[in-house]
Amino acid sequence: MAEWWRGVPKLELHAHLNGSIRSSTLLELAKERSKKGDLVLSEVEGVILKDDRSLQECFKLFDLIHVLTTDHGTISRITKEVIEDFAAENVIYLELRTTPKKNEAVGMSKRSYVEAVLAGFKAVETVKAIHLPSDGNIQYPDEVTHKNSTSEGPRMQQIFVRLLLSIDRRESLDGAMETVQLALEMRNSGVVGIDLSGNPVVGEWQTFLPALTCARKQGLPITLHCGEVPNREEIQGMLEFRPERLGHVCCLEDLEWKTLKESDIPVEVCLTSNVRTECVTSIADHHFADLYRVKHPLILCTDDPGVFSTTISREYALAASCFDLTKTELFQLAKNAVNFIFADNKLKETLRLIMEEAECVFAGTK
Ligand SMILES: [Zn+2]
Repeated sequence: MAEWWRGVPKLELHAHLNGSIRSSTLLELAKERSKKGDLVLSEVEGVILKDDRSLQECFKLFDLIHVLTTDHGTISRITKEVIEDFAAENVIYLELRTTPKKNEAVGMSKRSYVEAVLAGFKAVETVKAIHLPSDGNIQYPDEVTHKNSTSEGPRMQQIFVRLLLSIDRRESLDGAMETVQLALEMRNSGVVGIDLSGNPVVGEWQTFLPALTCARKQGLPITLHCGEVPNREEIQGMLEFRPERLGHVCCLEDLEWKTLKESDIPVEVCLTSNVRTECVTSIADHHFADLYRVKHPLILCTDDPGVFSTTISREYALAASCFDLTKTELFQLAKNAVNFIFADNKLKETLRLIMEEAECVFAGTK
């Protein structure tokens, strides 16, 4: 089933750059570092090569990724590879998110970090990666190009890519403000929104409220990681803030579910991630079923496909089998994701056309 879903055009709206890194690249980077004596390969090789990681092993891998991805060249390289991997899953629009980092040892500022990510956008080779907004003089090259061909041969597959800058819960308000400022300055380079993420038991989300409010006042859409742990005050505060999207929303209580449903705030659902990180006990118990039943806006996403050993196609196949959805129903869900992207309306129209064209091919399949 995952193979069938691979053929269907899809959108990915919740994927962290570092968590999407290829295992093969991670292993290569670890080998280079071990030659320099920075780490012992045998201590990390097992967790890199393993597929079915426990929660502790996932944390270990996140720590390792953090250690191995510290310079501009590596940031650009993993960005390029991650986009190519999503394109290989037939993702036509990708909103990648990442926390801009400072690393004085290698002369990295938050700005140069984001520039390295954008350099990765431009370095994509296997598909045509389009990351610039439609205003100004920029033209979309081929509106519905997916499988068109020209006299010079088949056109290259396209993926539209945009960037969300994440505020990490470990940061100070000043750090968060710097990230928002950077996002505002880089709006014409492909940055389309702000995310709040990081260890849900670290820090308080209210710390970042002035930065999030500043982003909102400037018209930057916001998505918040919400309800990964039961934190009543925080969950209620986030729902009251009414961000443009919410990620996860696992640990809600009855009244909060009611508020969420009334709000119509689209939810980024990450099935495998939620099970691996033990936010839900099993996929069968996942709140997707209830939210889908009441027609709440939902988007299927991977979160960290590298760390959780999944793909967006696999997430669709999982949803189909666990919640007994037909291909037509799930295709509709994939198509609806267009409504919830943070990029401009012109791009929404383009994506809608691509999905409608695909609907003729895929949605009628039982
Ligand atoms: Zn996430």
